[in-house]
Amino acid sequence: MTRSSEGLTPNYDPAAKLAESTCITVFCDFDGTYSVQDVGSSIARKYLGERRTELWDRYEQGIVDAWEYNVELFTGFKLPPADLHAFLETIDLDPGARELQAWCADNNASFRILSDGFDYNLDWLQRHNGVTFDYMCNHLEYTGVAADEWQIAPGGRNASCDCGTGTCKSQIIRAQSKQRPGAFTVHIGNGRVSDLCGAIEADLAFAKDTLAPALQERKQPFEPFETLVDVVDQLSALVSEAQALRAG
Ligand SMILES: [Mg+2]
Ligand SMILES: [Zn+2]
Repeated sequence: MTRSSEGLTPNYDPAAKLAESTCITVFCDFDGTYSVQDVGSSIARKYLGERRTELWDRYEQGIVDAWEYNVELFTGFKLPPADLHAFLETIDLDPGARELQAWCADNNASFRILSDGFDYNLDWLQRHNGVTFDYMCNHLEYTGVAADEWQIAPGGRNASCDCGTGTCKSQIIRAQSKQRPGAFTVHIGNGRVSDLCGAIEADLAFAKDTLAPALQERKQPFEPFETLVDVVDQLSALVSEAQALRAG
């Protein structure tokens, strides 16, 4: 595996850890990672421009956390389902999304999307693109007073984590590691807000966009990537390396 030195601590060798593991568990962020565009922030930019800018300032100042930001942003937000669906049609999947899932199936690795986005959108995008995946994320439904008004709920807050998101990824990865102690955990993501705690928790993190410098700043090891095609290549190389180590 060609390892870039970016952010990697010199004596961390994921292949050695993988060689001692019984299986691989892959956790993958959705927005900007499994998909090209970020659904939530694109919607906010398109429909809630000014409110989004104001709220982002409040987030940056630490007045609201990531989930409170979502609540304030989307409370009372009206977007008829037909308009949402038309918007979701413009979301593209990463060119390696299907390949990554196929790789996981071939390598007995479990695959799960961890997202600080919403289940309604993930369900729609799966149907529309003919893909299927397990996921954990926040909840969105249209059963409010007004038929076109968003009703949202968090998927798994964690008061003891700094992420402040609706679905804390480190909490999910830690729970999984407890359940399957021999598993080698991989996290793939792109955002410093929703992916940082998960990336730090996993045995191996793949990072791009704002997540990469955030990990670098904290001297946390990670593998940089551009698309999920790169992730598949790097995982394949890592598995070969671990097999060679096992064979001695
Ligand atoms: Mg993301
Ligand atoms: Zn967290």
